[in-house]
Amino acid sequence: MKIICIGRNYAEHAKELNNPVPASPVFFMKPDTALLKNGEPFYIPDFSNDVHHELEVVLKISKAGKHIDEAFAGNYFDEIGLGIDFTARDLQETAKSKGLPWEIAKAFDGSAPIGKFVSKTTLTDLSAITFHLEVNGTVRQQGNTADLLFSFDRIIAYVSQFVTLKTGDLVFTGTPAGVAAIAIGDRLKGFLGKECLIDCEVK
Ligand code: ZN
Repeated sequence: MKIICIGRNYAEHAKELNNPVPASPVFFMKPDTALLKNGEPFYIPDFSNDVHHELEVVLKISKAGKHIDEAFAGNYFDEIGLGIDFTARDLQETAKSKGLPWEIAKAFDGSAPIGKFVSKTTLTDLSAITFHLEVNGTVRQQGNTADLLFSFDRIIAYVSQFVTLKTGDLVFTGTPAGVAAIAIGDRLKGFLGKECLIDCEVK
C-alpha cells in the first residue's frame, strides 16, 4: 500500500508557511514504513529539531482505479479517519530552499500515525466535517472540510491521473492552520466531530 498526502489544501495553512495557494493539488507520498498503527508511540527522530504535527482527514481507498472521473470518485473510498502527517520542518525548509524533494522531511519511519476509521455513511455531509487536534488537552488545530481548496473527489480524480490507486491506499487530505513543533512527552489526540479517533504519544 501507499500513502498519498496532499499539501497546501487549506488556505490558512498555506499562508502560515508563506506558501502560495496552489492552482492544482500538490501531492507527495510516504512509504508503508511511515505508518504507525494501534496507538504505537511516535519517537522523535534524531535528525530533526523541529518536527511538526499536521492533523489531517484520511480517506481509505476501497477500490482500484486509474483516471477516475471526479463525478464517480466517491465510489473509491468507503472509510474516513484521521492521521498525523509528522513533518521535519527544518529539513523541509532546507529542501524547499534548494528546490529539492521533501522525502527526508516527510517520508521517514513512523511519520504517519493513523487511528480508527469510520464508515463514511455515518457522516451526514463529507463537505462539512469538523475535526481538531488536542496537544496535552489544549486545542491546537481546528479544521472543517468546507475549507478544503480541493475536495476529496477532486483529489482522487487528480492523483489517479498520475498514480493508480489501489485498495488499502490512504490519502491524507491536507492540514488546517495551527501546525507547531512537538516535544517528548506530548500527547496528541485527534477528534472527528466529537469522537476521538487517534491518540498518539510522543517519545
Ligand atoms: Zn500534511
